[in-house]
Amino acid sequence: MTVAYIFATVVLCGALLFSYFTMKRILIEQASLYAFGTSTNELSITIRDTSLYSSDLKAAKELPDSNSRLEEKIKIQMMTALERVSALKKETTARLLSLQDYSYYKDFHNMFNSPPDSIWHKLDQYVNRLHEIIIDNNYGTPGADLLWLPVEATAAKNGTLGKSYSAALERLQMIIAERSSHLDKTHKRLTFFSVIVVMLELLLIFYPLKRQLGKVNTRLLSAHKKLYNQANYDQQTGLPNTSGVIKQIHSQPSEQPYLYLLIVGIENTDTISRIVGPPSLDIFFTEFANRLHSVDSSDNLLFRAGDNEFGILLTHQTLSDDTATVSSIQKVLGSKLPVNNSIVYPKVRLGCSGTKITSENLLDKLIDARLAAQVYEAAEFRIPKYESYMRSSIEDENILVEKLRNGLTNREFVPYYQIKVDANTGYACGMEALCRWVQTDGTIVPPFEFIPVAEKSGIITEITWQLLEQIAIDYKAWISQGLNPGRIAFNAAESMLREINFLNRIKTILESTEASHCPLDLEITENVALGLESEAITKALSAARTLGMEIALDDFGTGYASLSSIVGLDVDIIKVDKSFVSKMSTSSDSRTVVVTIIHLCQQLNKKCVVEGVETREEWEFCRDLGCTEIQGYYFHRPAPFLDVQEALISEQRLGKTG
Ligand code: C2E
Ligand code: CA
Ligand code: CA
Repeated sequence: MTVAYIFATVVLCGALLFSYFTMKRILIEQASLYAFGTSTNELSITIRDTSLYSSDLKAAKELPDSNSRLEEKIKIQMMTALERVSALKKETTARLLSLQDYSYYKDFHNMFNSPPDSIWHKLDQYVNRLHEIIIDNNYGTPGADLLWLPVEATAAKNGTLGKSYSAALERLQMIIAERSSHLDKTHKRLTFFSVIVVMLELLLIFYPLKRQLGKVNTRLLSAHKKLYNQANYDQQTGLPNTSGVIKQIHSQPSEQPYLYLLIVGIENTDTISRIVGPPSLDIFFTEFANRLHSVDSSDNLLFRAGDNEFGILLTHQTLSDDTATVSSIQKVLGSKLPVNNSIVYPKVRLGCSGTKITSENLLDKLIDARLAAQVYEAAEFRIPKYESYMRSSIEDENILVEKLRNGLTNREFVPYYQIKVDANTGYACGMEALCRWVQTDGTIVPPFEFIPVAEKSGIITEITWQLLEQIAIDYKAWISQGLNPGRIAFNAAESMLREINFLNRIKTILESTEASHCPLDLEITENVALGLESEAITKALSAARTLGMEIALDDFGTGYASLSSIVGLDVDIIKVDKSFVSKMSTSSDSRTVVVTIIHLCQQLNKKCVVEGVETREEWEFCRDLGCTEIQGYYFHRPAPFLDVQEALISEQRLGKTG
């Protein structure tokens, strides 16, 4: 294409140059014709072109040789004159010639001082002949000087050649007219040709230019499209992102098509990433987005609100208010999701903004919905909806963190103990230490009010160390009184297990409190357990084992791991979550879960502790299934050191402990 273009351009440039020079020649020739007409009368303003002289000269050379000496002399003289004029003209092209330049005419005068008529006649004949040769051979236009020559001579001879002059003049006028019309035609043809050439040239320039521009434009458009896509759509799921959704709302014909903004946060993406592997996280998000699509009405607008967050713009109220729908949404969203060859259980956190979403307030509403989701982390039955006080509740959280720090300094965190019983006998066989925050004014703060914030801020680690110290002290006190508390379980936060000197710290606590033989069980949740491939956690747990601790999997069944992924876990005890036990009488599903877990424990040869047993029926049901231990209000509630001590004493008195 480029080569063809260059070739065509060169050809057209050549054509243009050719037409330019032809035009120039025509113009000069026309000017010469005009000059011819005038120079016959006024020599001083001739601007003739040399080429015209050369045509005269050319013609003169073709005059036949003659036997007459005079004729030869005239011919030679004439040619000399013409050559001189020709040479002179070459030097003085387009210059005004003065009369002196034509001094060669004097030679004629001198030569033929008083020549006979026959000579002038001969000369006249020659001139006419020359004109004929020029015209016949199409040598161009006869020179004016040729004409002038006899005119001068005629003047010298008192007008004897006047007839010949006027005849020549007439003839030349005719030639001029002919030549003029010929030139006119050529001129027109050339003008037309030039216009075509210019048009072709323009076409040649503009067509590739236009194509090139078109290509650039297409590339620009696709780059723009790509950039627009990246800026407005989530690359993982293809859903619009926040800025994309703002644009979509903006372009809606109705001003406020959406009432609420529901935020769906996935809390356990780290765990999911560990299960499916980070490269498959994209698939997880896409699958999860599909699941979200299937929830509620198709009028809603789904978008990606953040790394682990989706947003749904709701057109109506049911999803945000109706409790039945909400729990069903949570159930649907949190149910098992196959990703590649793994099964994951997304843990979702929901929050809803205040009403009326516009493109202007979407970002604010997003913050509102997030706040609602944060403030009510434990909400089970309804989606927390933003209220104005929530903004201050975040500030409250900061205040709480500060209070927790003070509480640590004042050693306000103490263990309450909930005695666990042997499932068969109902006798005490161990206990779980549960944290209570006993504030200086005597207020006892339950775990759900501060544990989530303590975990979020990392303070939970120090709280647990403080508790362990107290557990060791309490254990030592019971032992020294001859009481047997059995194994004491404590809840280990993930951050604690990740501490580098985890083992040494436990050892130091037990040694400094002289409770080195305190039999401790370490409780971890499913999510922590799923992080077992994390080196730090595996190391901490095997360190715990070296100290004689048993590892218990807490709240089993509520987490997000599949049954199969739990099977391979290196734990000694499985604790069935109380939510299943409490629903056993009403839900056959819950009953099935309890039955299955107890059977699983038996098959895997693990201890099974059923939590939340509040009735005799629940106890008997679990006992008959073959669970190992029971932890529940039916037997014991969590209680402070002294109360537990009394319980242990009375059990011992009755001979029940073992
Ligand atoms: P958890 O580890 O599952 O502890 C068992 C919870 O179930 C305790 O609640 C206990 O009082 C309650 N419970 C036991 N039997 C029954 C029953 O029959 N009916 C009912 N309704 N509840 C029963 P608590 O003490 O309020 O603790 C709540 C949660 O707070 C704990 O659940 C645990 O996740 C967390 N927590 C408590 N202490 C600590 C701690 O020292 N460290 C950490 N990381 N978390 C703690
Ligand atoms: Ca526990
Ligand atoms: Ca539990």
